[in-house]
Amino acid sequence: MVTVSRQVKEVCSSLVLSDSMLEHVMGLMHDEICKGLSKETNGCADVKCFPTYVRNIPNGSERGKFLALDLGGTNFRVLLIELGGSQKNKMLSKIFAVPQSVMLGSGNSLFDHIADCLAVFMKEHGVQLERLPLGFTFSFPCRQEGLTKGRLVRWTKGFKCGGVEGEDVVRLLQAAIRRRGDVDIDVLAVLNDTTGTLMSCAHKNPECRVGIIIGTGTNACYLERLQNVGLWDGDFEEPQQVIINTEWGNFGRSGCLDDILTEYDREIDEKSLNPGEQVFEKMISGMYMGELARLVIAKLVKKGLLFRGQGSDILYKKGSFYTKYISEIESDKLGEYYNCREVLEELCLGLISDQDCQDIRYICEVVSTRAAQLAAAGVACLLNKMNEKKVVVGVDGSVYRFHPHFHNLMTESIEKLVSSDIKFELMLSEDGSGRGAALVAAVASRKS
Ligand code: BGC
Ligand code: MG
Repeated sequence: MVTVSRQVKEVCSSLVLSDSMLEHVMGLMHDEICKGLSKETNGCADVKCFPTYVRNIPNGSERGKFLALDLGGTNFRVLLIELGGSQKNKMLSKIFAVPQSVMLGSGNSLFDHIADCLAVFMKEHGVQLERLPLGFTFSFPCRQEGLTKGRLVRWTKGFKCGGVEGEDVVRLLQAAIRRRGDVDIDVLAVLNDTTGTLMSCAHKNPECRVGIIIGTGTNACYLERLQNVGLWDGDFEEPQQVIINTEWGNFGRSGCLDDILTEYDREIDEKSLNPGEQVFEKMISGMYMGELARLVIAKLVKKGLLFRGQGSDILYKKGSFYTKYISEIESDKLGEYYNCREVLEELCLGLISDQDCQDIRYICEVVSTRAAQLAAAGVACLLNKMNEKKVVVGVDGSVYRFHPHFHNLMTESIEKLVSSDIKFELMLSEDGSGRGAALVAAVASRKS
């Protein structure tokens, strides 16, 4: 088997993080979370730690028929979910495309599109005359003012619709539905996908206290004691806890991660829709991981260190190296390059040697390992802060789900960072954004 070339390793070295660096990152995250939770410092915090107003986790008694909307990942989905019925948790769903023109258009056309899809779906399933309770998973940073009111702070990932920032997205949704006039719904909750993930895992395992997403974007939420939430403006009835949506993707916004940023990170940021923001997210999530690898590869080709210096037009085009390629390449058996060659052929790179393949795999590993370790530093920070004996962490998102080693990389790294008396487990969530939304709506309706 060929070994990775020395020069390739050298070029990649800035992407390799030492254990002490990761400990440092974990400490910085801790400071940022405390800053976010406190009323006095929240204004200037990068990690906003929004209280979600979700206080109860499911207890298994949740019943009923719910609609759910899921906006914020790769797809937009509408779901019809039956909790606790005879056919255990029956679920129907439909994926709708959100065209780029809508993602970058006006807020009204985005919400009209959502309402259209909802109406089509309700008619297809013959529920257009019912007024069903709905949970709205809206996976962007929202400052919530209650379970059914959340103002978008700013768009992230690929979205940038005018006139939505600062607005209550539930109101915008209801207005769009009213504009149509042919269907009706009862919005019981607006939630983040991390909250949905925590809820859907807690439904199966009551030790679940953290929910994270490593998909198109990244974020985490966790159950915090009210006494630690300086921002809390609600009552102090039992249970004295609330799920906090950390919005950790924006960690690093004020420069605390600058030491570990590489030239590739800076280029990604400059060419993004939201320069300067979501610094942590851009080092971790699926929207950027493939592009990071592409930038490293392109640099190495230009230096003559890969493919004998021969690139291709596609390789030099932004976005052409999909994040799923990383998962595919790292799924090859060691010493075999079947998927790797297939990917490189798709990029129109000819005459590929085993050495090239081994080096490409190494680049992918360096990028995905760094992502997993940074996410691990965030999880370990939460576990240490919560300081409970055993915590289950619900995880969802395409990167975690499809990358062949992400789970193991994260687990190993968290083990190194977390206090030795804390036990944890990373649990794959079963459709947190869909089922989780129904559960939040169900828990809310149980209360009211
Ligand atoms: C958003 C979060 C979301 C995460 C994962 C981030 O860009 O700000 O609200 O949870 O992506 O979808
Ligand atoms: Mg999702």
